[in-house]
Amino acid sequence: MEGLTKTREIEGIIRRRMAKIVTACAVGMTVFDIVYFIYGLAAGILPGTPISYLLKRVLGPMLLNTILLTVMWCFENGIHTFDCKNAVVAFSVSSVGGLVAIFHGYHLVLWLAPALGLFFVAISHNKILRRSILVYNYILLTVAYAQQLWEWGDYGSVLRQSVFAYYTQHLIIGYMVLGVVYAFTECLHAHIVDIIEVNQTLLKQSDEYQERVERDALTGCYSRDYLSHHMEKLFRKCSNRLATTCALIDIDDFKKVNDTYGHDCGDQVLERIGKLGRMLGNAEAERPAYRICRYGGEEFLFVFTDRNPVTCQKQIEEFRRVFETQEYDFTDRRITLSGGVVTCSSPQEFNVVFKAVDEALYQAKATGKNKVVVGKGI
Ligand code: GH3
Ligand code: MG
Ligand code: MG
Repeated sequence: MEGLTKTREIEGIIRRRMAKIVTACAVGMTVFDIVYFIYGLAAGILPGTPISYLLKRVLGPMLLNTILLTVMWCFENGIHTFDCKNAVVAFSVSSVGGLVAIFHGYHLVLWLAPALGLFFVAISHNKILRRSILVYNYILLTVAYAQQLWEWGDYGSVLRQSVFAYYTQHLIIGYMVLGVVYAFTECLHAHIVDIIEVNQTLLKQSDEYQERVERDALTGCYSRDYLSHHMEKLFRKCSNRLATTCALIDIDDFKKVNDTYGHDCGDQVLERIGKLGRMLGNAEAERPAYRICRYGGEEFLFVFTDRNPVTCQKQIEEFRRVFETQEYDFTDRRITLSGGVVTCSSPQEFNVVFKAVDEALYQAKATGKNKVVVGKGI
C-alpha cells in the first residue's frame, strides 16, 4: 500500500513536470506565431488577408490551447483521481501539439507531439487510457492531414497531386511513429510495473527491518533502541501541564524460575508480560494506555499516556495484580513482579528519570517484593 502511495507521488511529480513542459511549449509556440505574424506582415508573405491569418493561425490555436491548459491545471489542482489527472494531462499534451499541427501543418510537430503524449501516458496503469490516447493521436494526425488537403484543394490538379503525395507520405510516417512509440510505451509501462513491484518488496522489507529494530522479538515490546530514540525527546518536553509517568518493573526471583524450570519456561513468563501489556494497555487502540519497552533481561519500562499520575499508578498496580494471578503450565506457583513508578513534570534527561524510577523499584524489592512503590516526582 505504501509502495503504491510512493508510486503515485512519483507519478504526480512526472505529471506536473509534463504539465509545465506542455504549458511552456504552448506559450513558446504562441510567441512564435505572433512573431511570425508580425514578420510576415512586414515582409508581405502572409497567405490570405492578415486578419484571416491572425484569426486562424494565431488567435485560434491560442484560444484553444488556453482553454486546454486551464482545464489541465484546474484538474491538477482540484480534487480528482490520479487516473483522471493523468488522462487530462495526456490528452492535453497530445492536443497542444495536435492543434499546432492542424492549424499550421508543421510536420515535425505532427510526428513529435503525439509521441510525447503517448510517451507520457506510460506512467498510467490504465490500459484503456493508453489505448485511447493512441486512437486520439491517430485521429489528430488524420484531421491534420485532411485539413491540409482541404486547404490545398483550390490549387491546380498537378500541384494538388504532389501536395497529396507529400501529405500522404507524412501521414504514413506519422502513423508509423505512433505505432512504434505505442509499442515503446507499453514496454516502458511493463518496466514501470516491475519497478513498482521491486519498490513494494523493498518497502515491505524495510518495514520488517524497522519492526525488528524497534521491537523485541521475544515479547513484542519495544526495544531499547526504540527507547533511546523516543524517550530522550519525550522527557525533555515534560512540564507541569505535560507530566509523563513511567514505571519500571522487574520479575521477582526470576533467576529461580530459570534455574528450577529452565530457560524456556522463563521465556514463557517474559512473553506473558508482553501479552498482558498489549491486552491491559489496549495496544491496538488509537491511544494505548502505555508503551512498554523491554529495558533489559526481565526489566520492562512502561511509559504512560495519561497525564494524571494517580491514573497511571492505578494502571501499573492493576498490571502487577493481574500478572500475579497468571497461570503457567510448568508450575502452580505464583510468579510476581515488583515495580517503581515516578511522574516527571519538569524537563529532564532520560537517565535522570530512569534513576528515579529504578530507585523506586529498588524500594519495592527491598521492602518485600510483589508491590509497586510510588517514587518522588521530579
Ligand atoms: P529479584 O527479585 O531481585 O529481581 O531477583 P532475580 O532473580 O529476578 O534477579 P535478577 O534480576 O538478577 O535476575 C535476572 C535473571 O533474568 C537472570 C537472567 O538469567 C534472567 N534473564 C535475563 N534475560 C532472560 C531471557 O531472555 N530469558 C530468560 N529465560 N531469562 C532471562
Ligand atoms: Mg533484574
Ligand atoms: Mg528480577
